[in-house]
Parts: sequence; C-alpha cells; structure tokens
Amino acid sequence: MQRRGLLYVISAPSGAGKTSLCKAIIDILPNLRHSVSHTTRPPRVGEVDGRDYHFVSNAEFDAMVADSAFAEWALVHGNRYGTALASLEEVRDAGCDLLLEIDCQGAAQLKERCPDAIFIFVLPPSFQELERRLKGRQTDAAEVIEQRLRNARIEMREMFWYDYLVINDDFDLASRQLQAILVAAACRTEILKDQVQRLFGEIGR
Ligand code: 5GP
Repeated sequence: MQRRGLLYVISAPSGAGKTSLCKAIIDILPNLRHSVSHTTRPPRVGEVDGRDYHFVSNAEFDAMVADSAFAEWALVHGNRYGTALASLEEVRDAGCDLLLEIDCQGAAQLKERCPDAIFIFVLPPSFQELERRLKGRQTDAAEVIEQRLRNARIEMREMFWYDYLVINDDFDLASRQLQAILVAAACRTEILKDQVQRLFGEIGR
C-alpha cells in the first residue's frame, strides 16, 4: 500500500532558475507531479493552457476564491495566482508527490494549512546575476524587470523560515541538491513509519 503523497513547496525570486530546476527534477523522480496553478496573467509566447497554467479571467478567479477552491492564492507582480485545493488533494490521495512552485505569500499560507509540507527556497548566486538572467530572458519589458528585481529583495527576506535553501549558481549542482532534499524528505521516519509497520508489524515498537 502506498503512503500519501508529499507536498514540496518551492519559492524563489523570479530569475533564480526555479522553473528549470523543477523541470529537471520532475524528469528524474517518477513519483513526482508538477502542480498546475491558476492565474489571471495572460499567457506568454509558447505557454499552453492546462500545462503551464490554467489561464483564467478575473471573474473566474473571483468565483474560485468565493468557493474557497484555493489551498492558497496571492497577488504576485500585479496578477493573481492560486493552487486549486481539489487537484492538490487528488494527487496526494493517489500517492503521488506534488511540487508547487509558488511565491512566499502562498507558501506562508500553506505553512499554516499543511504543516507537513517541505519548504525549499531557491536563491540566485547574487543580485547582479539575477539582473543579468532576467534581462537575458527577453520575455518581459524593462519596467517589469525592475519590478521583479525590487520584489526579489523583498521575497529573499522570507527565506529563513523555509526548511532548505538551494543556491543556484551551478545548475547541475543545484539540481542534485534539490533531488537530495526531495529524496531525503521522503525517507524521514515520520513519513515511512506506517509503511514500515505494515511491512514488519509491531517489531521495534
Ligand atoms: P510567472 O508569471 O513568472 O510564471 O510567475 C510569477 C510568480 O508567481 C512566481 O514567483 C511563481 O512562483 C508565482 N506563482 C505561480 N503559481 C503560483 C500559485 O499557484 N500561487 C502563488 N502564491 N504563487 C504562484
């Protein structure tokens, strides 16, 4: 019998490389699923509805908030983003682990709501490098980049209540660190004790 899926919550300032790290880790860990958030932000070129985000109108988002359909939601860079409670529970009940890429405000809400979740903060190696990466992406206007840099300084104040920090300087090293964190968290005694008891009965109790 499977254990209930774990919840991994990853936050980072925009441009720290969180999305690439998460993609890499999803490819490696077979039991891990990526949570698809709802957002009122318009799709970027190449983004697919239902794969990258569920792109919804303000009215649709309002309706979900009114229905208490979100496990968490927040206003980030002028747009709203949220994690649907139903899909989160569904994946975990099916025994799959779930990776949430969300901002610090949403993570703080989940810290209250799901105290068993594992919280990971990804950092850029420096503010200079963060700026270089954001400019290099060429997906956002100059004022958007400025806003993201200002937000990065605010978001990074939150990192100290997270369980783990990953400094994304060398991508391969950061991805191995992230993998190690996820794998180790799934081997905690607290997580495995029911499964072990089913395997070995009352031994050692
Ligand atoms: P982007 O627009 O660049 O895809 O994402 C902007 C920010 O929104 C990122 O920091 C990302 O982590 C955050 N975000 C994405 N989905 C969610 C969500 O469901 N909830 C919250 N609170 N933040 C989210």
